[in-house]
This record gives sequence, C-alpha cells and structure tokens, in this order.
Amino acid sequence: MTFQPNRSAALTRLDEFLPCAGRHYANSRNYDDSVPTDGMRQNVSQLSPWLHAGLISEVEVVEAVLDQHSPDASDKFIAEVFWRVYFKGYLEQRPTIWRAFCDQRDAAMAQMASNSGLQRAYGEATEGRTGIAAFDHWARELAETGYLHNHARMWFASIWIFTLKLDWTLGADFFLRHLIDGDAASNTLSWRWVGGLHTKGKTYLARADNIARYTANQNGGPLSVAGLAEDAPALHEDTEHERQALELPPAPPPIAFDAPYALLLHDEAASHVPLNLPKAPSLIIGAARPDARSSEPVGDLALDFAHGSVESGAAEAAQAFGCDAKRWGEAGDLAGLLKDAGIDRILVPYLPVGWTRDALMADLAPLIEGGNAAVLLDDLRRTTWPHAKAGFFGVKKKIESVLGEIGVAA
Ligand SMILES: Cc1cc2nc3c(=O)[nH]c(=O)nc-3n(C[C@H](O)[C@H](O)[C@H](O)COP(=O)(O)OP(=O)(O)OC[C@H]3O[C@@H](n4cnc5c(N)ncnc54)[C@H](O)[C@@H]3O)c2cc1C
Repeated sequence: MTFQPNRSAALTRLDEFLPCAGRHYANSRNYDDSVPTDGMRQNVSQLSPWLHAGLISEVEVVEAVLDQHSPDASDKFIAEVFWRVYFKGYLEQRPTIWRAFCDQRDAAMAQMASNSGLQRAYGEATEGRTGIAAFDHWARELAETGYLHNHARMWFASIWIFTLKLDWTLGADFFLRHLIDGDAASNTLSWRWVGGLHTKGKTYLARADNIARYTANQNGGPLSVAGLAEDAPALHEDTEHERQALELPPAPPPIAFDAPYALLLHDEAASHVPLNLPKAPSLIIGAARPDARSSEPVGDLALDFAHGSVESGAAEAAQAFGCDAKRWGEAGDLAGLLKDAGIDRILVPYLPVGWTRDALMADLAPLIEGGNAAVLLDDLRRTTWPHAKAGFFGVKKKIESVLGEIGVAA
C-alpha cells in the first residue's frame, strides 16, 4: 500500500516532496501524470491522507516548506494548504450544508433503489464503464489507489454532474467512500463548487482540450474524452445555508492537563505530536469511525488507513507517555473505559463538522456539558476560521498575517 497509516510515513513523504514544493509545484501541479510504479507523484505532495488524519499538521508542513523555499516561491503550495483550512472553517460556519448533503444523498440512494435506469447509470459511472475513457480511467484509479489528482477530481465531478447528469451527492459519496483523504469539508464543498452551489452560479466545465493538455504525460498518451457536455448550468437548491457565528472552544485551562486525564485520538487527530500537550495524559483512547462516512460500504483502502492511523497514533502516544491505550469501539463504551481507568476527564482534539463528530458526539456531549471534557483547537484554525466567511480570497489575503500571528516565520 502506498499510503502507510503512521506519522513516520507522513514525515518521510514530506521530506521527499520538500525540494519540489517551490516553483516546481507552481509550474507543474496541474498535470495529472501516470502514477509512478512506487505510487508517489513528483508534482504534488500527496500529503492529504496524512493531513486529514492529523498524523501531520498543516503548520508542520508549512514550516518545513518555508525552511527550504522563499515565501514567493512557495506561495502557491502554501495557498493550497490554506484551501484545506478555509474549507473546514467555511463548513463550521455553515454546518447545515453537511446535514443537507447527507439527507440529499440518502434520498438519492433511496430513489435509485427503485429505479433500474439510475442503478445502471450509477453502476457504469462508479465501475468505470461509461465509455468516456478518461472518466472510466479515474473511476478505476480511485477504487484501486484511494487517491485522485486534484485536476482529475475536478474533471470527474464536472462530467458526473453535467455530462452524466447524475445527482452530485451520489458522486460526492462515491469519493468519500474511496478517497483515503476523504474529508467532509474539502469534498462536499469542492463538489458544490463544481456544481455552482459554492460560488453561486459559477460552475466548472470539463473540456476535452484541457484534459488532453494536462494528461499529456500519461503512459499511453493523453486521456481521451468524447461527448462531454458543452455547457454547465448551475445547480439549484431551495435552502439558503445561513452563516452561523463561530463558537470556538476556549483554550483549555492548565488544570485540563493535570493528570489524570484521558486523551482522545480520532479520525482527524490520530497523533499526539501535533497537539503539543504540555503534560502527559494517563490514558489514550483511540476511536476511528470511517464506516460513518456513508450508509453504503466504505472502500478497504479508506477503512484501513483510518483504522491504521488511529491504532498507530494510539500506540505511539502510549509509548511516549508510558500509559495504556484503549480502543473505543462501540457507541456507549466511552463512559465504561473512563470508569475502568478511574479517570473522569478527557481531552478532545476539536471534532470538525463531519461524520466523526456525528458518530462520537452523542457520547462526548454529556462530558463536555458536565465540564469533564476539554476541547483542543489548534492556533492555525482558531486564527484562520474567522476569515473563512465567504470566498477563499478572504483567507488568502490574510495568510501572511495568520502565519505571523501564530509564530510561523518565513
Ligand atoms: C471534487 C473534489 C473533491 C475533493 N475531495 C477532497 C477530499 O475529500 N479530501 C481532501 O483532502 N481534498 C479534497 N479535494 C481537494 C484536493 O483535490 C486534494 O486536497 C488534493 O488533490 C490532495 O492531493 P495532494 O496532497 O497531492 O495536494 P497538493 O497539491 O500537494 O496540496 C497540498 C495540500 O493542500 C491541500 N489542498 C490542495 N488542493 C486543495 C483543494 N483544492 N482544496 C482543499 N485542500 C487542498 C491538501 O490538504 C493537500 O494535501 C477535492 C477536490 C475536488 C475538486
């Protein structure tokens, strides 16, 4: 497997990619080349699975890049990392988008169950049998590798919506079930962006000439597409997703780190290292919930990476702090785990809007409300999210000041 679910693999990949993170990245990032035999590309970092799992943090990546490249040379790469932080902050302020996505997807699945024409079209699209060669190639690549290049994701989503005319939520669900880096914010909002729901009315149309140009380095030559839609009318939705005020948790008081406390590691915070804990916990609790990505089966690569990340992160934390690591497997088990260890306080790395929060919050809420759980939010998110109110530009123009504020030196 190309993506190993542990922190040391993330650091190795970061080291390997660093020399390419400057102008080389800016000039070549749009090319969807053939996957090299070792599975790693040279023109993009492929760090997204480890970033999503919290095995490495955005700040560690940005600091390492700025150590080797000038801010000018690396500004494209750093801006892309901030897209990730922006999308997460945007969804925090419009959580109804996630709920609406889940509801529409479930309704579309139910509708498909009684419509054999839709079943056929969906099967052809997800199994790579549409006859649109490039699209079929990406469908198979996604299922086989758990990763797609950003440009391929854009083309795929556009063809799904505007050429195949399938419900966008079914495509976003297909991505979530197979992408190792599947992320509620980046995935849902990118699909909405392609369909004209994020930047209202502005859609992304996949074009044959653009695909041929940026897939020119594929082993068999440029990927071909025939019969693509020639226009991309924006999708509509009845709901207006009003922005809600950000309610960020206060930084935990020093007592939150006094032993004995348990540290929760989860799908989006699988390593203790980026958390920079001032004092050691007495127990590590690992909870991975990749099955909660969808009501449909999740791909093995995505499942294995999520479970493996939390397992490796919990084992490393237990060794670093000289304490036990327990697995929180089933809903309802948390109280028992804490009771058995004689611990009543838990530290929870922030759970952003998405399936992990949906799956874990019922058990955590009473502890948070009762003052027995402290929530840890990193400075990058705390500082960037207030700017993620509308378009990415609001964040982009603040990148330098955010980095200065959180002490990342150029
Ligand atoms: C339809 C669609 C669905 C997507 N779904 C996901 C998803 O589920 N999870 C996910 O992490 N990304 C998603 N993306 C964003 C982007 O495609 C991936 O983050 C990127 O391809 C990951 O590869 P990389 O690590 O080599 O990126 P690089 O180009 O090396 O970029 C470095 C890092 O910046 C961030 N980044 C780069 N581009 C974007 C972007 N457009 N949006 C948000 N963050 C970005 C990622 O964390 C990435 O690891 C989606 C994009 C589209 C168009």
